[in-house]
Amino acid sequence: MTTTVTIIGAGLGGLVLARVLHVNGIPATVYEAESSPTARTQGGMLDIHEDNGQPAIEAAGLTDEFRDLVLEGRQAMRILDRDGTVLVDEPDDGTGGRPEVQRGELRQLLLDSLPAGTVRWGHKVSGVRALGGGRHEVSFADGTTAVTDLLVGADGAWSRVRPLLSDATPEYIGSSYVETYLLDSDTRHPATAKVVGGGSLMALAPGRGILAHREKGDTVHTYVALDASREWFAALDLTDPGAVATRVAQEFDGWAPDLIALITDSDTAPIHRPLFALPVELRWDRVPGVTLVGDAAHLAPPNGEGANLAMYDGAELGRAIAAHPGDVEAALGEYEQAMFPRSAEAASDGGRLHDLLFGEDTPHGLIAAFAEDRMP
Ligand SMILES: Cc1cc2nc3c(=O)[nH]c(=O)nc-3n(C[C@H](O)[C@H](O)[C@H](O)COP(=O)(O)OP(=O)(O)OC[C@H]3O[C@@H](n4cnc5c(N)ncnc54)[C@H](O)[C@@H]3O)c2cc1C
Repeated sequence: MTTTVTIIGAGLGGLVLARVLHVNGIPATVYEAESSPTARTQGGMLDIHEDNGQPAIEAAGLTDEFRDLVLEGRQAMRILDRDGTVLVDEPDDGTGGRPEVQRGELRQLLLDSLPAGTVRWGHKVSGVRALGGGRHEVSFADGTTAVTDLLVGADGAWSRVRPLLSDATPEYIGSSYVETYLLDSDTRHPATAKVVGGGSLMALAPGRGILAHREKGDTVHTYVALDASREWFAALDLTDPGAVATRVAQEFDGWAPDLIALITDSDTAPIHRPLFALPVELRWDRVPGVTLVGDAAHLAPPNGEGANLAMYDGAELGRAIAAHPGDVEAALGEYEQAMFPRSAEAASDGGRLHDLLFGEDTPHGLIAAFAEDRMP
């Protein structure tokens, strides 16, 4: 097969695809809007699942290197009531099957595994156009263009490639995260660091929650989840980090002080992350020469699956392209027919998990599901 695969977006989905193509001897070019691998911090921990993320890494031939990135002890998990009572305290005994890594380190591993020049940094796609016969022209913000026989949109939530396949656009789900960090937490914030423990902490109430995680070293990274309109968040004065933290903390009135400190003692300015999702059952009819992977195809509310699914899509698409040399349509058809139900099921599981985490019965419904081993 001589077709060069053109991938838009060097996130985890696009990079796994490029790597799986490479190990199968198929060339690919990845066009990425960011100017360099370090243009943006790739913060956050990811737990890599046995049924999708880990097989994707295996297909990429990077399992040993991946194991070197795993942070020991981070699968420990606590669920707290809002008054700080510990309701569940699961240690990391090494059997969790969901090893935790830093997203930035995983991305760098994938970048290092590709031939030099595969990723073209600073190439922001501004538009795409069908030329007929499965060929497409990609336009970049700098005025240049590229023509390709096989185009893959791995360009995330606000994909520029998606309109070739569907007119669906992401919608706000009614919740946002506010992201905070405690740095050097064991020395500078010892009481709160102790409450978080060695892995993750969830303190939950209907419509709101505090989700904290010990990252590499003793950095504590927190997502404060809150059901509120976009207007409510727009009214926050993001130029005044202290005022934002205070206003968000007011929504957690009466919660334990060590939990509130995860909001008010942040060493970084709180970042507002509005949450969007595509329709759960999004599908499209086969369009010659183009497809999507990851969030571009099936953006869902955060449920711990998005990065795992994006990598799995990349691996599965790479495998399908390698299995059908010279027959792009057979490869894309096979990939999409498996991807549509897979992502729909994950999104509906994610919806159930969102209800368990933030619904009327939280945290007790969550704990019951956890105890009865019926977590989505
Ligand atoms: C707050 C939050 C927490 C999350 N936590 C988890 C978690 O714990 N576990 C998990 O599995 N998932 C998690 N997710 C979901 C996960 O981040 C995504 O599902 C995953 O990153 C999707 O990967 P992707 O490769 O499809 O897209 P992305 O990671 O979004 O990558 C897309 C790439 O395309 C580039 N790009 C975008 N537009 C253009 C353009 N026009 N031209 C060129 N390049 C472009 C971007 O710069 C980016 O590099 C979380 C999401 C959020 C918002």
